[in-house]
Amino acid sequence: MAKRPYFYQDLSWPELRDLTAADPVIVLPVGTTEQHGPHLPLATDYLTAGTIARAAVEQVAPRALLMEAVPYSFNEHHMDFPGTITIDVHTILDYIAAIGTSVAHHGFRHIVLFNGHGSNVPFLDVAARMITNRANAVCALVSWWSLLKQEDVAWRESTFPGGMAHGCEAETSLMLHIKPELVEMDKAVRTIDEVQTSDHIWWDIMGGSGVFFQEFFSRNTTTGVIGDPTVATAEKGRQLFDVATARFAAFLDEFRQREIRPRKDLHAQPEN
Ligand SMILES: [Zn+2]
Repeated sequence: MAKRPYFYQDLSWPELRDLTAADPVIVLPVGTTEQHGPHLPLATDYLTAGTIARAAVEQVAPRALLMEAVPYSFNEHHMDFPGTITIDVHTILDYIAAIGTSVAHHGFRHIVLFNGHGSNVPFLDVAARMITNRANAVCALVSWWSLLKQEDVAWRESTFPGGMAHGCEAETSLMLHIKPELVEMDKAVRTIDEVQTSDHIWWDIMGGSGVFFQEFFSRNTTTGVIGDPTVATAEKGRQLFDVATARFAAFLDEFRQREIRPRKDLHAQPEN
């Protein structure tokens, strides 16, 4: 593969040094390795995050640089399903923060974590704050679905809420577009009715409930799916990929322009 000028790890150190003057946004995709039902691969979340991030960075390069995706994360609640990997909560916070503070050390001032795994959100939010508070840089978190508007998924057939949560219509469609050779649609199973939801608790990427709550996945699904992957198609996946890419690319250009203002110490100052 030819050298990719937008890919952090393809560059030599003098090339990277010379890029800091142009102030590109550094994009770090973060996924996980976890079960996604019987029809999708364990790699789903870092493939979706990594592929959408790459397409967005390609659109705005050289105003952004892409890093290699992180393929492991916190995941205790999926451990009843074979294959899932979980990283200790403190380790994942410190690990992501260390990547961001390293990048800032080299002179980059705008960093974005691009997430592919719903349960990464609270941890990557904290890690982004750790980077922003500790480094001479600002760091934001975006998930591939978090900038979407309802009209972006006008093709939706699954019920709301609940049809788009995990291994669902959205994720399966994306994978049919990105990596169809890893999707086995004949094994896709609609799994909504056995999920214990209520007026206040449900899961859906197009609008979560007002309650933050996550229990062991095996209490709510025996397939590993929450949602309806049976209505997924590659065409829905193409549309979802394109709009998620465009919305993220627009954010990258906006965030790069964000002024990092000096802090002010407003404590009473001792008299000299
Ligand atoms: Zn996923």
